[in-house]
Amino acid sequence: MLICATCAVERDEPPPGVCPICADERQYVPEDGQTWLTLDGLAQEGQQTVLKENEPGLVGITTEPKVGIGQTAQLVATSEGSLLWDPVGYVDDSAVKAVLARGPVLAIAASHPHMFGVQVEWSHRLGGVPVLVADADRQWLGRNDPTIEYWSGSKTIAEGLTLHQTGGHFPGSAVAHWAAGAGGRGVLLTGDSVFPNPDRRTISFMRSYPNRLPLSGAVALRIAAQLGGLTFDRIYGNFNNVIGSGAKAVLQDSARRHAGWARGDFDHLT
Ligand SMILES: [Zn+2]
Ligand SMILES: [Zn+2]
Repeated sequence: MLICATCAVERDEPPPGVCPICADERQYVPEDGQTWLTLDGLAQEGQQTVLKENEPGLVGITTEPKVGIGQTAQLVATSEGSLLWDPVGYVDDSAVKAVLARGPVLAIAASHPHMFGVQVEWSHRLGGVPVLVADADRQWLGRNDPTIEYWSGSKTIAEGLTLHQTGGHFPGSAVAHWAAGAGGRGVLLTGDSVFPNPDRRTISFMRSYPNRLPLSGAVALRIAAQLGGLTFDRIYGNFNNVIGSGAKAVLQDSARRHAGWARGDFDHLT
């Protein structure tokens, strides 16, 4: 197994000449070309995993230094077990031990293919737990394995913890809804289809972030309408970008703003 240095998604050997996820219009191949990494190589260079509690029942997992895109994975705990969301592109024994200390892992899932990380490697280290992949995005899977399970629509992981396919950034893009989060007011874990901005009070809806390509207003409104049926107050993106409270209204307002700009409502400001 090899790891793309740019996106940190694992891939079966022999790898293609260039990572398909990075060659896609949503990502990029760096100017100095494609590089592949190995887990052993990263470990020898002193790669580490760092766990940090975001709130009771939710632990963020990062790598230091960052590997690839450098997302924060989230470990969501319920009384039945946990979900590992948006797994990072590196895993070591200390991370596995820390994750299992919080209870059994029920499943691994990613918001979209940029966040696959070394998901199959995580699964193997955690005892072969299912790796849930959106059926609509199966073409982007770089490492096949018997632990892969395809899903679409919605998928319940445990009581009060459900995946919802929204599409948008990728056709199979998904969010995880955790009803007990934010003190029982509800949490959404999102990827790039619903992206909390640095101002902490607005959200973006983009096909590509590095290459600045927006989704249409209709798609932003569609996603907001779908998620408007869920109960939540807080949204965690996967780069420590958080809407701490009032996130449900922020999502609706941001979708309307996005659609307005896309439609030309604010062209007098340009
Ligand atoms: Zn890549
Ligand atoms: Zn993405």
